[in-house]
Amino acid sequence: MGRDYRGSVSVPAAPSPAPRSVVVVGTGLAGLRTVAELRAQGFDGEVTVVGAEAVPPYDRPPLSKELFSRVEPVWLSGEGYGDLADLADRVLPGRRATAVRADDDGVDLTVGPADAGDPAQGHGAAGEALTLHADVAVLATGAEPVRPAGWTGAAELHTVADAAALRGRLSAGTRLVVVGAGWIGAELAGQAAAQGCAVTVVEAAPTPLHRQLGADLGARTAPWYAAAGVELRCGAPVTAVEPGAVTLAGPDGAPGERLAADVVVTAVGVRPATRWLAGTLPLTGRGALRVDPAGRVAGAPASLRAVGDCADMEVPGLGLVPGGHWDAALTHPAGLVAGLLGHEVPAPGAPYVFSTQLGHDLAFVGAPTDAATVLLRGDPDGAWTALLVEPGPDGTGRLTAGFTVDRPRDVVPLRKLLAGGARPLLDRARAADAAVPLRKAVLAADRAGPAAGPA
Ligand SMILES: Cc1cc2nc3c(=O)[nH]c(=O)nc-3n(C[C@H](O)[C@H](O)[C@H](O)COP(=O)(O)OP(=O)(O)OC[C@H]3O[C@@H](n4cnc5c(N)ncnc54)[C@H](O)[C@@H]3O)c2cc1C
Repeated sequence: MGRDYRGSVSVPAAPSPAPRSVVVVGTGLAGLRTVAELRAQGFDGEVTVVGAEAVPPYDRPPLSKELFSRVEPVWLSGEGYGDLADLADRVLPGRRATAVRADDDGVDLTVGPADAGDPAQGHGAAGEALTLHADVAVLATGAEPVRPAGWTGAAELHTVADAAALRGRLSAGTRLVVVGAGWIGAELAGQAAAQGCAVTVVEAAPTPLHRQLGADLGARTAPWYAAAGVELRCGAPVTAVEPGAVTLAGPDGAPGERLAADVVVTAVGVRPATRWLAGTLPLTGRGALRVDPAGRVAGAPASLRAVGDCADMEVPGLGLVPGGHWDAALTHPAGLVAGLLGHEVPAPGAPYVFSTQLGHDLAFVGAPTDAATVLLRGDPDGAWTALLVEPGPDGTGRLTAGFTVDRPRDVVPLRKLLAGGARPLLDRARAADAAVPLRKAVLAADRAGPAAGPA
């Protein structure tokens, strides 16, 4: 693979002969954008889409951020991301793919029967399993919530159906226990507290967002809970969840305190929805398909591609970047389709996650290394950005990532500076000065030069 870190990744990726039929598995953002990109990049062959959910593609982030204020699903067609009904030849909603067989001649996809009573079926009787053949399959099956074994009676927040069910159960005075102070747990907790619920968040790690941001940055988000009227209990592993109660670990592994709850929500992370592929395709440690920027799956023929939350991407300059975020589902399909059609594959942007939680707007950009430490710019009690910087010579530092809190003006510069695996060298003093635009803290020699990847 030829690599140009700042421009495009030239990949001789197109299956030969050029594909004439594509089946896309999954009707989330990544599946929809794949279909839209196929048409936008000139594919005029047959496109079939299979999706386990019976509803049209919708946006997930508002489910937790606007749980009570946007009760209708935010349909992606209405937001300008494309309409499957216009773009695809066949859409098979409410059907789950159960097996795939791929070789250089194409793919056979086994698809389970449709949900009973779904009138939208256009192919095969609703109660029958199907085998679909296509030149290429794109797997865009997303992720599913982690459900610890034996935890009964807990709700989750992943789909429009989950959101509707929770809305019906949460009102002023409801005792809500959220297990997990990650992105979604924090967002839900804030929304429910604002609705008048009595909310407790329990988290096994010593800080919120510990896995996502590390101890230092995670700890800086902890005071936001009390300010939003949420009780936060960190370092509190849960040993049991049952209807009406959550039990915390006590001393020496014995069951400890029991928290009574009208509603318990587990928000302890997601895992790629790839269980049906185990034994067929190699998976990464977290159960994802390993892909390159053209969506080619490691260990699979060129007729199989993957994108979105179900994929971890090998990014030039960064290594393996775990999937799981909205921006990747939005933007990576363009590279996948380019590779499929023999076009130049654009380099993926910097990893980018956003969140609105507990009264704060957050963005995390980039991929920090273990050697990076926090360089703060802005007001730690107000709007601030934490730059994650590897130590460099003479008052400089190499930027690896940035975390913005209520400082949207730093988000676009961070995304530009870190695009294509770049790790620009900063003047630390200028970078720490919030009045200096971030790009002006980059040392001149590093502004236009080739990106510096990790050693
Ligand atoms: C409540 C919530 C809030 C979020 N907020 C943010 C945020 O603020 N910022 C951010 O960056 N990210 C956020 N995310 C994550 C973001 O929504 C996802 O990264 C994005 O939706 C991924 O899109 P996707 O198409 O890859 O997967 P998904 O949206 O999960 O879609 C995959 C689809 O495939 C279907 N499917 C699964 N298996 C099969 C199968 N075998 N056969 C057929 N169909 C199948 C699924 O049912 C699903 O419809 C949030 C997620 C949730 C749940």
